[in-house]
Amino acid sequence: MGDDAGVTPTTRAADVVLLGGGGAGTAVLHHLALHLLRQRQRRPLRVVVVDPLDRLAARPADRTWCSWVPRGGRAEAELGPAVHRWWPTVLVVARDGSPVRLDLAPLRYAMVRGEDYYAHVAALVARAVDRGALDLAHLPVAALDVEEDATAARVVLPQGHLVAPVVLDSRPAPPARPGASSLVQHFLGQRVRGAEGSVDPDRAVLMDFSVPQPPVGLAFGYCLPSDTATSLVEHTAFVPEPLAAQEQAAALAAYLPGALGTTTSAGLHVEHVEAGAIPMTDAPFTQRPAAPPGQRRSRVVRLGTAGGAVRPSTGYAFTAMHRAARALAGQLAAGVPGDRLDVPRPYPRRHAWMDALVLRALIDGPQRGGLEGPDFFVRLFTRNPPQRVLRFLDGLTGPAEELALMATSPRGPMLRAAARDAAWRLGGGR
Ligand SMILES: Cc1cc2nc3c(=O)[nH]c(=O)nc-3n(C[C@H](O)[C@H](O)[C@H](O)COP(=O)(O)OP(=O)(O)OC[C@H]3O[C@@H](n4cnc5c(N)ncnc54)[C@H](O)[C@@H]3O)c2cc1C
Repeated sequence: MGDDAGVTPTTRAADVVLLGGGGAGTAVLHHLALHLLRQRQRRPLRVVVVDPLDRLAARPADRTWCSWVPRGGRAEAELGPAVHRWWPTVLVVARDGSPVRLDLAPLRYAMVRGEDYYAHVAALVARAVDRGALDLAHLPVAALDVEEDATAARVVLPQGHLVAPVVLDSRPAPPARPGASSLVQHFLGQRVRGAEGSVDPDRAVLMDFSVPQPPVGLAFGYCLPSDTATSLVEHTAFVPEPLAAQEQAAALAAYLPGALGTTTSAGLHVEHVEAGAIPMTDAPFTQRPAAPPGQRRSRVVRLGTAGGAVRPSTGYAFTAMHRAARALAGQLAAGVPGDRLDVPRPYPRRHAWMDALVLRALIDGPQRGGLEGPDFFVRLFTRNPPQRVLRFLDGLTGPAEELALMATSPRGPMLRAAARDAAWRLGGGR
């Protein structure tokens, strides 16, 4: 990566600006580097990342991404070197503690640790730079604004500007307008090391609903082993109100020993903690801000959470971020300006509607004719081939598979949610 110290002039030109170098920004660098290493470039593509944190250099252990990846496919080849663990089967645990084993073939559940992923992308980027295909600089500042006129987009920095035909903006941004149903996913996890041999490395728990449930929404734990002594144990809650950090810490502390098959946390060493909160909402996110006068489309494209990549019903975003990055890489390398970039929608429109119903029914809960969240997810996984559920969550299913999924959902709560959603829309909600 270029020298930060030398890149603070008043105006600097780039081919692409990545505004935000978190999950979405790093995915773009990943796919861009792969693309540039495959093709010959007439001159280096000039990319500038603006983010207070340079993740490719610092490689923080700030998150662990999990997602399901087809065996032998392109995504496996691209991600493989950064994957910490793969599991062909995972467990879902019902409220009463009974486990259901899901055979994911031809998919596998993959765990990618932030620090490994940043190191992998940094190595690819370094190769692309060495080959003269990429010129990458990082500006360790928070951008103040993005402006646009008929000729270019301008990123306003504390000192000076960056001018580029494409700005990929993954800074946090609110939805375009309010939605009808919103929850926030809070999670807190610990990478815990115990005695050698105390962990079964093949026992990966995707969702364990036997944890205490909140009054509105749902909660689950999960436990993903690294090796025979180390596991990532997380507590996740989908709740309407912000969750106090101490409350979630207590929930994790209560879940942890059981998840590790012990009765006490004594003797366990916490190697790392990760926490986060992400929106789960049917409010729409804007992929492109309004175009300036005289221009058909904006040169700014929003990616990641800001661009609607977080799946409203589950909080998964990894696959959608990578799909967008893969679709953009070739276009960026070919110099397509931002206003002509073809950017895929994160998920099909009808999936957004189905997720809106799930969110509404989860918020209503069984008391108000809605869903009992844990039972809903367990039922979805046990009455469908797990691949169908996972493909749906990735936004890859067609109408026939979706009808089959709907047929296995509790009919009453979903019909009531659909009726209330229709009334909300007719009432001008959207
Ligand atoms: C701990 C954690 C675990 C997760 N695990 C999973 C998972 O297992 N599977 C999954 O699918 N999804 C997961 N997610 C959800 C999602 O994949 C991540 O949140 C992902 O990092 C989203 O990427 P992003 O680029 O939208 O946001 P971020 O990664 O948060 O990146 C946004 C970036 O913008 C920068 N920024 C902010 N303001 C400015 C500014 N003014 N100027 C410049 N830069 C700015 C920030 O510094 C940050 O680096 C997880 C999220 C978290 C927090």
